[in-house]
Amino acid sequence: MPDKLRAAIRDVPNFPKEGIIFKDITPVLGDPELLQLSIDQMAATADGLEIDKVVGIDARGFIFAPPIALKYKAGFVPVRKKGKLPWNTKSIRYSLEYGENEIEIHEDAVKPGDKVLLIDDLLATGGTAAAAVKLLKQLGAEVVCVTFLIELDFLNGREAIDCENIHSILHYS
Ligand code: IMP
Repeated sequence: MPDKLRAAIRDVPNFPKEGIIFKDITPVLGDPELLQLSIDQMAATADGLEIDKVVGIDARGFIFAPPIALKYKAGFVPVRKKGKLPWNTKSIRYSLEYGENEIEIHEDAVKPGDKVLLIDDLLATGGTAAAAVKLLKQLGAEVVCVTFLIELDFLNGREAIDCENIHSILHYS
């Protein structure tokens, strides 16, 4: 079944910058069977775990995290790029290949001891997910699983993420 997903993902050369091959998931999102399949497969990676909150990373993590949260009867929590959340936030800066980025979360979005499933569409260098895990841990949450639709294996991003339980549905080497 992941073959069907893989076949639908489009490589877009030189987006958003020269030299980058962007994995475009919009053909997956536009097909109800593939959208359902990707949600089901991502949700299944946390089978048997108790989940209090499913956290999605801005922006494409927001597509998958809410339906997965509903499967676990858990709440959805957004981690957003700086300046987008309206209330009191906790934020973290992290390095990108070129420059820096900052993400934030509402300070009451998770409680100490909450068991969290973290979701994003794609794992590249791991900088974004690693920062999100740090932020969640600073708020006292326990990140029990981190799941992506796509992992770029050759960037070794999972090594940056402080979680023993990391899953991706599609791997590119
Ligand atoms: P990282 O921090 O280097 O792991 O980059 C991952 C973040 O960048 C995720 O939030 C992705 O949504 C986004 N990203 C990086 N490359 C791609 C891509 O090729 N397609 C879609 N999203 C990407």
